[in-house]
Amino acid sequence: MEYALTFEQYQKGLEQGEFLGLRCNGCDTFTFPPLGTCRNCSGTDLKVTQINGQGTVRTFTVIRVAPEGRRPPYVVAMVELEEGPSVMGNLVDINPDEADMGLIGRRVKLGSQMVQGDTYSPDDCRVITFSLVDRTH
Ligand SMILES: [Zn+2]
Repeated sequence: MEYALTFEQYQKGLEQGEFLGLRCNGCDTFTFPPLGTCRNCSGTDLKVTQINGQGTVRTFTVIRVAPEGRRPPYVVAMVELEEGPSVMGNLVDINPDEADMGLIGRRVKLGSQMVQGDTYSPDDCRVITFSLVDRTH
């Protein structure tokens, strides 16, 4: 099977501040982060599309007991992108001890950071982060 977008291409995009996803030619749904098939119809007729990197916090949690190699506390959020998909990542640039329910519904923009490989993922890779667009509300 040939993939429209490889993991390497996706990583390269993140490095350059581009968020490469897939748009389904069958049902028009966006898939991000990229997968082998459309997240809606499982179709494989996909084209590479840059998403605009804006979204809304739908839910979050504060990690106080972290996996090996990670330094707590930090905030993990589920963000709904403007194009539709939900993406998980760390909410950076905020004090985790001040995180409260007021975060839900806040606008964020996507970024990325390098994380070191661990027992379960041997290679370093770039992952999605979020930062608040509007600091005051
Ligand atoms: Zn589809």
